Amino acid sequence: MAETFLNKMSLPMKIQRIAAYKVNLPLHEGSYDWSGGKSVSVFDSTIVRIETDAGLVGHGEVCPLGPFYLPAYGPGARAGIAELAPHLIGRDPTELGRLNRFMDAALKGHPYVKSAIDMACWDILGQVAGVPVCALLGGRYGNDFVLYRAISQRPPDEMAANVAGYRAEGYRRFQLKVGGDPDTDIERIRAVAAEMQLGEKLVADANTGWLMHEAARVVRAVRDVDVYIEQPCLSYEECLAIRRRTDHPFVLDESIDGMDILLRANSEQAMDVVNIKISKFGGLTKACQARDLCVSLGIAMTIEDSWGGDIITAAIAHLAHSTPTEFLFTATDFNSYVTVSTAEGAPQRAKGRMAASTAPGLGITPRMDVLGDPLVDVS
Ligand code: MG
Repeated sequence: MAETFLNKMSLPMKIQRIAAYKVNLPLHEGSYDWSGGKSVSVFDSTIVRIETDAGLVGHGEVCPLGPFYLPAYGPGARAGIAELAPHLIGRDPTELGRLNRFMDAALKGHPYVKSAIDMACWDILGQVAGVPVCALLGGRYGNDFVLYRAISQRPPDEMAANVAGYRAEGYRRFQLKVGGDPDTDIERIRAVAAEMQLGEKLVADANTGWLMHEAARVVRAVRDVDVYIEQPCLSYEECLAIRRRTDHPFVLDESIDGMDILLRANSEQAMDVVNIKISKFGGLTKACQARDLCVSLGIAMTIEDSWGGDIITAAIAHLAHSTPTEFLFTATDFNSYVTVSTAEGAPQRAKGRMAASTAPGLGITPRMDVLGDPLVDVS
């Protein structure tokens, strides 16, 4: 084993082939609905396969929350991967820092495109080292970690009624999708909060959906409720204005997509918790950098991605499980929301909690029959 490890590490490894596949991920609940009437019933996910001259193969995934959430969309992921892939053939996938700097030089912006490639390279590095990715990201904290359940936007009584079912599945943290009509949202928050039991946590996530005057009304109307307020308005500045006029614990998500704004938000005390989505930052390398900075700054985190299936859920598990427990506010198990399994070995939710695989790399094996023929194939 040690000899294999040293042999592999002493050889510069080269990327030989990059392929990208499209997989449709329908939802068990039919549709996922959030602020401003936005809704998705089938997610467009892209899975990347990177083959090396050493025979090792790595996989990554990127799955935007539709084309109207962040500046990202399914066909854009594949177009970006097709653009980058020819530049990456012959490069060493295990030198993650160098690879990311090279990707940033070859293609400006488009962090979500790079996320799946970076994830696949971490899968390869873990296999080379013979350890799970969470070991490379800092080590495993505890036996497992805590998950939240998103409550899709519905009429207030329906959302409240959905809590019992999720609690029966083991969830103790609930994220309520608001960001609609403020009067209805006040009802939604009050109706769901009335269902909460001791030790449970409730987040009202507006996903940028309120104007400042609407957000101001909502936070005042629920001032007596024990609820976190997440990303009430579109811009960072609007959110900061609301943050300064409410005493609810405050979460920022969509506005925080890189180190510059994370540092600014910390210096302006703009949040108590930040949502780190892997593809929003551009992959595990950059999400881990942001995670480690948050730990140094004392900021708790939700660790997840925009959406995804088995491979993204595995990557989330490695980043979340390697986050100090007290800093992990919560994480997401997207593979339990969707009806299609794209990989064997992916972590599975148990009693509202999850654990990263102990197998080398991401610990997943894609189901090639589900992936079908690649839409991008560069060698
Ligand atoms: Mg959010």
